Amino acid sequence: MIEPGSTIGILGGGQLGRMTGMAARSLGYDVHVLDPDPNCPASAIASRTVAARFDDADAAASLAEGCAVVTLEIEQIGTAALAAVAARTPLRPGASAVHIIQDRIRQKRWLSDHAFPVGPFRAVTSRDESVAAFEALGRSIFKSTSGGYDGRGQVRVASRDAAAEAWVSLGERPCLVEQFLDIAFEISMLVARRPAHGSGEPQCVVFPPARNHHEHGILDWSILPATAPDAIVRQAEDVARGIATGLGIEGLVAVELFVLGDGRLLVNELAPRPHNTFHSTERGCATSQFEQLVRAVCDLPLGSTEVLRPAAIANLLGDLWEPGRPNFAASLDVPAVRLHLYGKASARPGRKMGHLSAVAETGDEAVARVLRAREAMRG
Ligand code: ADP
Ligand code: MG
Repeated sequence: MIEPGSTIGILGGGQLGRMTGMAARSLGYDVHVLDPDPNCPASAIASRTVAARFDDADAAASLAEGCAVVTLEIEQIGTAALAAVAARTPLRPGASAVHIIQDRIRQKRWLSDHAFPVGPFRAVTSRDESVAAFEALGRSIFKSTSGGYDGRGQVRVASRDAAAEAWVSLGERPCLVEQFLDIAFEISMLVARRPAHGSGEPQCVVFPPARNHHEHGILDWSILPATAPDAIVRQAEDVARGIATGLGIEGLVAVELFVLGDGRLLVNELAPRPHNTFHSTERGCATSQFEQLVRAVCDLPLGSTEVLRPAAIANLLGDLWEPGRPNFAASLDVPAVRLHLYGKASARPGRKMGHLSAVAETGDEAVARVLRAREAMRG
């Protein structure tokens, strides 16, 4: 067990690192972060910020030297940097889980090889294979293997010519091509798992599903808990728990899922870290996802994942800053709404600057509150 008072290292200093760091601070831990930007969002709560690229093994080693455990808030960490950490201090989740997840092709193959439900896909490594994949799958989405997030590094394809163009526009590098699915709605699951001791199964808990809405490939709002048929929720829990166990997760793993028009449940993608769709755990749950991550990586008893009050969040993208400063006060006038800002100096369209959260009697009322508060910010 890593006792309060120890130092937790975080690879990545974005908003997820910042909020994890705040939870760590509440539990009495010190926090060090590594990020290319010395003024990254988490630097405000870290006592040490190592400013270095995510493939800098020496910098990663230096971070690890000062920490009792190291976790991460971004999966795009170089293999040598992960190894440099793991050679010095526990890295949670471990390097092999991160290695599988950080490459979309490797991740989809792992899911498919382990019999988790996924949609039809192909890995392509040339222009000809790109066209052939379109011919086999029909309307599809080309996704860069690594580095894509918030819908970036993705191209929707509906013709042979578009498939050839997608191959070029994504940099003529290996791509994952997925059939375009008929999605009824999107949910996500979050699993927390402690390190294993001896031969017994480690403690592993699952949060209730979140219901998610994306605009242009970016999460717009999320409700906790999702209202979905019991059979879907049970299946989603089984899949999520199975993935966490199969990957040997120590920490968190988020599982994005699609519920199709015909009722089938398919895994979209994984993240070995806190997830935007579970920010509402800070408001609605007995334990927030950030505290849960700290507990898991420090090998402390995991907290209850019970929803005490339905909650929702809405993201605040840089677009809101375009006409000038948003009207923060107006958003805070809406009952039970809280404003979360990540301390990012410059607002760019599509950049996540913060979010609004609310609780209410029902998830629908909670999301109505955050959407009303966001509209009020434009005032
Ligand atoms: P990111 O890493 O940017 O979150 P995702 O693969 O999750 O990338 O894609 C972002 C969003 O795009 C998804 O949440 C979903 O709304 C949509 N999307 C992704 N893959 C598919 C697909 N195969 N069919 C239909 N929509 C998809
Ligand atoms: Mg996603």
